[in-house]
Amino acid sequence: MHNAALAVRGIEARYARFHIRPDELAPALGLLPALGFIGVNLTVPYKLAALASMHEIDAAAQRLGAINTVIVRDAQLVGANTDGDGISGAIRAEFGRSLGELRVLLLGAGGGAGRAIAMQCAAERCPELRLANRTFAKAEALCAELSAMPSANVIAAVPWNEDELGAASATSDLIINATSIGLRATDPPVLPRSMLRAGQWVYDTIYNPTRTPLLLEAEAAGARAANGLSMLLFQGARSFEHWFGAPAPVSAMRDALALMS
Ligand code: NAP
Repeated sequence: MHNAALAVRGIEARYARFHIRPDELAPALGLLPALGFIGVNLTVPYKLAALASMHEIDAAAQRLGAINTVIVRDAQLVGANTDGDGISGAIRAEFGRSLGELRVLLLGAGGGAGRAIAMQCAAERCPELRLANRTFAKAEALCAELSAMPSANVIAAVPWNEDELGAASATSDLIINATSIGLRATDPPVLPRSMLRAGQWVYDTIYNPTRTPLLLEAEAAGARAANGLSMLLFQGARSFEHWFGAPAPVSAMRDALALMS
C-alpha cells in the first residue's frame, strides 16, 4: 500500500521489508538518517524496544508506551504511534460513525492492539467503554489507567464469562474484537450469534481470514460486520502523513491492499 501511495504521489522512494534481529535493532535505527531513510514502520516485537532509540516521542506513542512509526527529521528519530488513528478511521469508513458516538465493547483489551483501541476510544470520549479480557487483571489495570484520563467517560472492566459478555454486548452499539481468536478459520467465534443483534456493528481487527467466525456470526444475526483491513489501511495512511506532511492517497492504498487480500 505504501509503494502504491508513493507512485501516486510521484515520490521517488521505495517501501521495503528488512529482517532486523533483536541485537541489531538499535544500530539499525541509528543508521536511518545517514542512509537517507524518510522513516520506517516497526511491528511486534519491536514496538516497545525501539522507544529507547528515539530522540523524540509523540503524544500517542507516549500514552501507549509503544511506537509503530519512526520519522527521520533533521537527522533525529521521532517515534509515533498510528494504531489509534487506524481504528478511528476504520470505524468511520466502515460504519459512518465516530467512536465518540458509540457505546463500545472491546474484546481483548489486554493485548497490544486492544490497548491502542481502548486509548483511542477514551480519547474520543466514547459514551460507554467496556473492556473485556481473558486475563481479567489486565482489563482492570487498563480500566484504572483510562479512568484517570481527563477525557474518560464511563469505563468498566468485564470478566471473561458468558453471562458478563452477554450483558455487556446487549448494551453496546459496537463490538471490536482485538483478541487473536479467529486468526485460524477453525477457531470458534469469539462471541456467539445469540449475543449479537441486528442494528449492532461488529468490527474484527483480524483481516486474514477476511471473514472470521465472529463476522459470520454477526452477519447471521443481522449485524453490520467489517474486518481489520481498514484499520491496517488507516494506520498506514497516518504513517504516510507523518513522513510526508501531506494527506495520504487513501483510495490508491486501499486498492493496493485489496489486491493482496
Ligand atoms: P497480543 O498482544 O498477543 O494480545 C492478544 C489478545 O488476545 C490478548 O488480549 C489475549 O488475552 C487475547 N487472547 C488470546 N487467546 C485468547 C483466547 N483463547 N481466549 C480469549 N482471549 C484470548 O496481540 P496483538 O498484537 O494485540 O493482536 C491482537 C489481534 O489484533 C490479532 O488478531 C491481530 O491480528 C490483530 N491486529 C490487527 C491490526 C490491524 O491493523 N488490523 C493491528 C494489530 C493487531 P490475554 O491477555 O488473556 O492473553
